[in-house]
Amino acid sequence: MRYSIFTLARQALAGHRGWKPAWRDAAPKPEYDVVVVGGGGHGLATAYYLASRHGLANVAVLEKGCIGSGNVGRNTTIIRSNYLLPGNTPFYELSMKLWEGLEQDINYNAMVSQRGVLNLYHSDNQRDAYARRGNAMRLAGVDAELIDRDEVRAMAPFLDYDNGRFPIQGGLLQRRGGTARHDAVAWGYARAADRRGVDIVQNCEVTGMTIDADGVHGVETSRGPIRARKVALAAAGNSSRLAAMARLRLPIESHVLQAFVSESVKPLIDTVVTFGAGHFYVSQSDKGGLVFGGDIDGYNSYAQRGNLPTIEDVMESAMALWPGLGRIRVLRHWGGVMDMSMDGSPIIDLTPIRGLYLNAGWCYGGFKATPASGWCFAHLIARDESHPVAAAYRLDRFASGRLIDEKGAGAQPNLH
Ligand code: FAD
Repeated sequence: MRYSIFTLARQALAGHRGWKPAWRDAAPKPEYDVVVVGGGGHGLATAYYLASRHGLANVAVLEKGCIGSGNVGRNTTIIRSNYLLPGNTPFYELSMKLWEGLEQDINYNAMVSQRGVLNLYHSDNQRDAYARRGNAMRLAGVDAELIDRDEVRAMAPFLDYDNGRFPIQGGLLQRRGGTARHDAVAWGYARAADRRGVDIVQNCEVTGMTIDADGVHGVETSRGPIRARKVALAAAGNSSRLAAMARLRLPIESHVLQAFVSESVKPLIDTVVTFGAGHFYVSQSDKGGLVFGGDIDGYNSYAQRGNLPTIEDVMESAMALWPGLGRIRVLRHWGGVMDMSMDGSPIIDLTPIRGLYLNAGWCYGGFKATPASGWCFAHLIARDESHPVAAAYRLDRFASGRLIDEKGAGAQPNLH
């Protein structure tokens, strides 16, 4: 069923009794050309592009829970392509371009909203760093504007401009950045992949891999063994566990990141704002809740929940930037498991095991990467060669020293 205004009108006249499930509840077949492990945004996008761009439809996505229960349904929904380094910029800009056409491509309303992403600066040094980043973006064909304090004030009048410690001096604005409804992205890709014949198998946990000297031949799952010519890992926070089944040790640590949503309030903020003097970012959802987050919890964990000291830290940053937030009640919060790479950039690469492909290391920033990640991972799986914009995301860069470290912070679980 194709979604359109005519379908909606037809269904309305028929009392909305004719809607079909958005995707089949597929049972696993004994064999596939490609098995994608992980039904998050990246796994589903990969399967969709394998089927739609590379003609490979004998594909299964194996998800241990239900679609959207991982980070794709837990993030703060920010999309942007405001990167500095050449290894990153073309990849994230491809993602932004794919976001711009995504809803038409997959025939699904993912509520992509290009409301702008505004990174605030609070010192001359920070302004210079943002000017450098903005110039790099513009040279790479990405939109960026360095705006002053008055222009920021016109966009977000309620912030604390004269905070004694962190006065707001201006911001770096990417107008094409914004938000997308996170779980709709998972559902939209799932539906689009299913329509092209991909099996989306939920409640199917991969528990082992069938590997010999020739490479990988399939996976063991909670629903029985499945043979596959190619196995593609897209398990985000669980990447290290999956890789360990193939005796691979990844340069990744799993950390918890929390998100928060307030009670619904009238429209207050129509862009995404990030604090430059602490780890805090905020936007407002279409339901009216303020959606915000901060830093990772700071220790390794596979638990999808966080701890109070980080909540306190996030709230302190919130109050420093926007004191009025103290009047708003937090409605809910949760945690997600992040696959933090040691330079803050992802991995989309072949592994030393023939037929085993790796997509991991998305840190805080993998949601915005979803379309390009799926696009480039599908290219790699179908052709056994890297897509040009993802060529730098190699697994061996940690040994060769070709790191892509936006923060310049060294070998630690970097932030973005
Ligand atoms: P997931 O949705 O986690 O998919 C991986 C899937 O693999 C899961 O569904 C999991 O159940 C499955 N899986 C794991 N092990 C197995 C197994 N053995 N067998 C079968 N299936 C398995 N990014 C942004 O760009 N912008 C943001 O604003 C942003 N905010 C964030 C806020 C929070 C609180 C969090 C937690 C993350 C945020 N991110 C953000 C990061 C982003 O959400 C992730 O990088 C991205 O979603 C990871 O890719 P994914 O969607 O494929 O992951």
